[in-house]
Amino acid sequence: MAEHSLGEFKGNILIVDDKADNLRILSSLLSDKGYKVRAVLNGASALRAAQSTPPDVILLDVLMPEMDGYQVCQRLKQDEVTGDIPVIFLSALDESMDKVKAFEAGGLDYITKPFQGEEVLVRVETQLRLRLAQREIQTLNQSLEERVRERTRQLEATNQHLQQEISERSKAEQQLRHMVMHDSLTSLNNREHFMRYMQELLTQLQDQPDRQFALLFLDCDGFKVVNDSLGHLVGDQLLIAIARKLEQCLDPGQMLIRLGGDEFLILVSELSFPQNATIIADRVLEAYVAPFYVEQQEIFINVSIGIVIGNGVYQKPEHVLRDADIAMYKAKALGKGAYQIFSPEMYEQALERMKIENSLRRAIERDELLLYYQPIVSLASGIISGFEALIRWQHPEWGLVNPQDFIGIAEETGLIIPIGKWVLQTACTQMNRWEQFVRHPLFISVNLSMKQLYHPLLVEDVDAILQSTKVRCDLTLELTESMMMRDVEAVKLILTQLKARSIHLSIDDFGQGYSSLSYLHDLPVDAIKIDRAFVSGNHSPNPDADLSRPEIVRTIIDLAHNLGVKVVAEGIETQAQLDRLKQLDCEWGQGYFFSKPMNCVDVDNFLLTGLQHLS
Ligand code: C2E
Ligand code: MG
Ligand code: MG
Repeated sequence: MAEHSLGEFKGNILIVDDKADNLRILSSLLSDKGYKVRAVLNGASALRAAQSTPPDVILLDVLMPEMDGYQVCQRLKQDEVTGDIPVIFLSALDESMDKVKAFEAGGLDYITKPFQGEEVLVRVETQLRLRLAQREIQTLNQSLEERVRERTRQLEATNQHLQQEISERSKAEQQLRHMVMHDSLTSLNNREHFMRYMQELLTQLQDQPDRQFALLFLDCDGFKVVNDSLGHLVGDQLLIAIARKLEQCLDPGQMLIRLGGDEFLILVSELSFPQNATIIADRVLEAYVAPFYVEQQEIFINVSIGIVIGNGVYQKPEHVLRDADIAMYKAKALGKGAYQIFSPEMYEQALERMKIENSLRRAIERDELLLYYQPIVSLASGIISGFEALIRWQHPEWGLVNPQDFIGIAEETGLIIPIGKWVLQTACTQMNRWEQFVRHPLFISVNLSMKQLYHPLLVEDVDAILQSTKVRCDLTLELTESMMMRDVEAVKLILTQLKARSIHLSIDDFGQGYSSLSYLHDLPVDAIKIDRAFVSGNHSPNPDADLSRPEIVRTIIDLAHNLGVKVVAEGIETQAQLDRLKQLDCEWGQGYFFSKPMNCVDVDNFLLTGLQHLS
């Protein structure tokens, strides 16, 4: 409708008048102008006609019998279909017409009779124009409303999309936060989570001086063995099984964390009594007594626990963790499968260890290591048969350091591998010199550590040293019982390879460990060294002192001889001990009675002055 111009638009007009003449005049006037005209003689017909085909304009006579124009107009206006059809009232000039009433009834205009053709046309056209404009506005409004609705729909859709994106993003963010704060294998809290939580806890504790917390640091004993022997998949399954078991050891409010590897933490943020920490530790140790079942395998594993009972004096989570770690190491050192509560002295000791470790790393390159040599004497002849090389560390500040104070650290850190090579190389080179001073053959005995024995390059390294030094004397390697017991089959293989190079093997500190000679059958061992505890024991030397455990010494010697193994007695300090050992047919002896370990200058003099004969 909006694009119609009035020239083309010829509307429908309904004329209502009870006078047939009027109807005719108006009809022909309007028809001539191209309007479609319908004419009716009374109100009722008018309402029907308007209902069935709504006209564009109604010309409505005011005065009619039965229903007058006002009533008709009112009825038209009340009806939804006809309500907005413009009504122009027709009234004779001499009839009294109530214009106010006409407008109130809904009429828009009026024409007075007798009709002026021009006026009728102008008024009709005006109404039609108005109606057209109204419809255009209506159409515009409708399309505007439609556009608004469409835009609203679009906005709603965009909004919904945005909401969805926001919720997806926040879900992803939550997942990410969960991942950052949790261990993917066990789903436990991880280190990051612990560090943040602990920091918050320590901040809170600043204002609560009486409040205490406990941190338990758990480290599995021998987890590496499981991983190496059964594979990482089983190792992972075992860690999951451990996590689930540990969860059962906790009371509400206690936090379990996987720190990494086989290390777990239990945090008790509110510790009512210090003994509660040890109750949890006992519960954990108890839980480890039963085996873990992983892929139909029964796995026994132990745990060592370090405990920190702390308060707001701690400033940083790292410090709490460090102290718990120190206590855990102490628990391991004191024999695994146990717990230790952290004390400040432990920190001092750990610091000391770290100082030693750092210093030891540079000891070889700074030429601070040296060897002492202790004679090993043939008891039958009294002649020096060989020497045991014993390491010392000449530290620029600490003076001469004994092996007990650094060999353990060298073992743990792996530094024993380069140190051990250095010892072997130095001892062999030294022996080549001394061999020239004496007329009889000498052997050199060198201590080997657990790490060295199981090191994959041991045989290769020994070969290289034998070749580079061209050592002429016999070489003996000293091993301890516990080293052999860890993996008898593997050790057998290594020892056989060493034997193939004419290296002698002896078991050091015999009697301290398993005290079983049965494995000697199986292993290519040449000699055993009876531990000093059975020879001179721990009491202060008394010149008349006999062997501290004569029966044991006799049994060991007899059994060894039956197996074709020779015997060295360690720690001979008195003539009486020497005499008894001679009686028992012990082949060799070593001890302060003959000589303390000496540096190479002292050994030079010792050999040069012809003191090889010691008893
Ligand atoms: P070990 O192999 O059993 O060496 C014997 C230890 O007993 C030596 O202590 C020696 O000085 C001491 N000793 C010898 N006779 C007597 C005695 O009559 N009375 C007393 N009270 N002690 C005596 P040292 O030199 O302090 O060595 C201690 C341990 O350190 C050695 O025990 C050995 O296990 C280890 N060690 C020494 N050097 C090396 C090395 O080069 N490599 C490795 N892996 N361990 C070494
Ligand atoms: Mg030894
Ligand atoms: Mg020994």
